[in-house]
Amino acid sequence: MRGKRPASWHTAVVVESRPETASARRIVLDVPTWPGNDAGSHLDVRLTAPDGYQATRSYSIASAGEGTRVVLAVDELPDGEVSPFLAHDLRAGDQLELHGPLGAFFVWRPPLDGDALRPVQLIAGGSGVVPLYAMAAAHAAAGDATEFRLLYSVRTPDDVFFRDELAGLAQGTLQLDFVYTRRTPDGWAAPAGRVTRSTLDAATVPAASRPRVYVCGPTAFVEAVASWLIEAGHAPADVRTERFGGS
Ligand SMILES: Cc1cc2nc3c(=O)[nH]c(=O)nc-3n(C[C@H](O)[C@H](O)[C@H](O)COP(=O)(O)OP(=O)(O)OC[C@H]3O[C@@H](n4cnc5c(N)ncnc54)[C@H](O)[C@@H]3O)c2cc1C
Repeated sequence: MRGKRPASWHTAVVVESRPETASARRIVLDVPTWPGNDAGSHLDVRLTAPDGYQATRSYSIASAGEGTRVVLAVDELPDGEVSPFLAHDLRAGDQLELHGPLGAFFVWRPPLDGDALRPVQLIAGGSGVVPLYAMAAAHAAAGDATEFRLLYSVRTPDDVFFRDELAGLAQGTLQLDFVYTRRTPDGWAAPAGRVTRSTLDAATVPAASRPRVYVCGPTAFVEAVASWLIEAGHAPADVRTERFGGS
């Protein structure tokens, strides 16, 4: 579906909540009124306390397309207001209030006949992989021939979200590169460390190939990566960003 999907409030029922990593959970929701969503979009979750106090936070959607199943992956910030509740307290059968789908700009859609086939470079920091995983999965499902690459910066091998799914996609059309910031797998050639300008030069589609680039993660990560991409010659209009907050 190419048309706009109107955002509205929905009541979701938790189908499943299971560990994604030691600090994150995958939450599968059934949303009977869901209009479907493009890969990369997000939604707002609104929690209401018994005294009426409300807190709303945005979460990217790991699933895409038609249907009423909506998948989230929530990393717990120990001092946070909303993420510890979602990670620890939600049980199958619980209800959640959602508003969405949101975000018409940070989405990937399969090219239509006649569209120029341009490579796609995805760059994730931590839980910022959620919408980018949705794009890579949608790309594989569409059988699209566009070159797709994901550079995923993650603390340790144990912190990888969608590990099995990404490994499966990497057997097919996705070129997958990791940067480990705190601990690498045994035998990994590079030491642990953050993404740098030279990592981008080595492990992303070059600016000369005019990729569409999607960058998502903590605000400081996104801002550093986006500025290096522009320095490297990518057109600002080709670099789409989504900031998750924090530093
Ligand atoms: C469009 C969008 C999509 C998002 N998608 C996801 C997602 O798929 N999965 C996911 O886990 N989170 C996602 N987030 C982040 C999420 O909205 C919340 O910010 C996060 O869960 C923290 O909420 P909280 O109430 O637990 O913490 P808060 O009570 O809001 O904050 C606690 C402390 O953590 C800091 N902080 C807030 N957010 C972050 C952050 N993202 N990283 C580091 N520190 C932070 C705050 O500055 C504060 O000091 C997304 C954010 C946006 C804007």
